[in-house]
Amino acid sequence: MKIRVAIALGLLALASRAAFAATLPSLGPHSVRPETPERRSVAAEPLRPVRYELDVALDLKEEQMTASARIAIRNAGPSAAGEASFLLYRLLTVSAVRSGSGSPLPFSQSVVAFEDDPKRQANRVRVLLAPPLEPGSETTVEIAYAGYLAGYVETGALYIQDSIGEAFTIVREDADAYPTLRPPSWEKIRSEPLPEFDYLARVTVPDSHVVANGGLLVERTVREGRATYVYRNRKPAWRMDFAVARFRELDAPGLRLFALPDDVAGAERVLRSAAAALALYRGWFGPLPGATTYTIIEIPDGWGSQADVTSILQAAAAFRDPAKIHELYHEISHLWNVPSKDAVDCRWNEGLAGFLEALTQETLDGAPSLDAQAEKTARRQLERAREDPRLATVPMIDYGRAGMTGDSYRTGMLMFFALYRLVGPATFRSIIGAHAARHHAGGATTAEFVAEAERAGGPGVAPLFRDWLYTTRWLEILSSGADVRTLAERYRKTAGSK
Ligand SMILES: [Zn+2]
Repeated sequence: MKIRVAIALGLLALASRAAFAATLPSLGPHSVRPETPERRSVAAEPLRPVRYELDVALDLKEEQMTASARIAIRNAGPSAAGEASFLLYRLLTVSAVRSGSGSPLPFSQSVVAFEDDPKRQANRVRVLLAPPLEPGSETTVEIAYAGYLAGYVETGALYIQDSIGEAFTIVREDADAYPTLRPPSWEKIRSEPLPEFDYLARVTVPDSHVVANGGLLVERTVREGRATYVYRNRKPAWRMDFAVARFRELDAPGLRLFALPDDVAGAERVLRSAAAALALYRGWFGPLPGATTYTIIEIPDGWGSQADVTSILQAAAAFRDPAKIHELYHEISHLWNVPSKDAVDCRWNEGLAGFLEALTQETLDGAPSLDAQAEKTARRQLERAREDPRLATVPMIDYGRAGMTGDSYRTGMLMFFALYRLVGPATFRSIIGAHAARHHAGGATTAEFVAEAERAGGPGVAPLFRDWLYTTRWLEILSSGADVRTLAERYRKTAGSK
């Protein structure tokens, strides 16, 4: 949820990437991604990670880590690659790079600023591949590194408070705590499909602490006061999150929860609510393909709730304050999202998650009502339009290009609210459920989603998307004082007049 706050403040950088990516339960083959002029305009990163073997030892007292990452990489590009370029946190220093067979590989490292985010500095590690990696071929690079994490708050990504310490430690992509095959440019990173890899991770901590991860716990061994947790991913992953604290663990069918020690009482309630929300969405949208155990990991407030393929990082607020449980509904609903194949994702999935969050509150908790929440969202978006005149000219479909995806939460919420009222609950559920079932693995474009919704939802749906997604007519509608309870009415009339 803090991601949403960060975006609302216009602090896009990494939060945007994280939340964008958080909507992607799984990924399809890269070849299905459409070629577009936007996409061709930036240099493609041909090297893709296939598998990580990560070995991390955390010294919580000294607040430092020692690690090695064996990364199997494939050349998905059209020509041979003579170099692999990795990003690592600026305070993590590489001591050696080796090939899969253990022979040293020449490399360089230097702290560089992102081309389009000059406050963000990262260690760029360039590894010479000799002979060059041929198209379609794979090789393994092992990077040994050590150092510190101090977050990226200074870049404006307020939720990246990542550090190493006794109270709470997190090792994740957001702070480049492991090497990723990415260039130091958000534009280039966002133009690429998300990675898709398997991982096997060994994380060693004091045995007073627990390592939480969304993968399968292969084993936990203890030696001389140090516990090593070995996790394997349950589904193809695009990121790895390892949270370390004196966690308490709770289980329910299909669910595992790691709670911070002060919040064990609230954790029981969170687990029940998560189970209820999962059951509700299964009933509405059908089972998730490849459904597995989902892991909820509590993180301190301000560190950014997010969802990946099998786990949810959930800020403490939902554990401490029953009124904040809707944040968890939002994250769980993301599990049914379809990966975007748009050249630039405007992230209407956040609007869908916001709508489902409100609908779930009304359904499971009885209050507040969906209408009341839509009304609140409409008032907020009118306020936003006074603050940011671009809302009057940039349609939601272009929010990604315009750096306005924070507004997709609200414009999108209202669009899905109107759609729900227009087509009714049964048709709405079947639109979302069928879309998830059809495209869960391969992804879909917004145009594909719209076409499916129009076919299933009748003639009022096309004008609805025109007003809310493809034009800024929605703002005129709200500005004219329209009651949110009547938003769907105009599309029924449209439908009748055709
Ligand atoms: Zn979200």
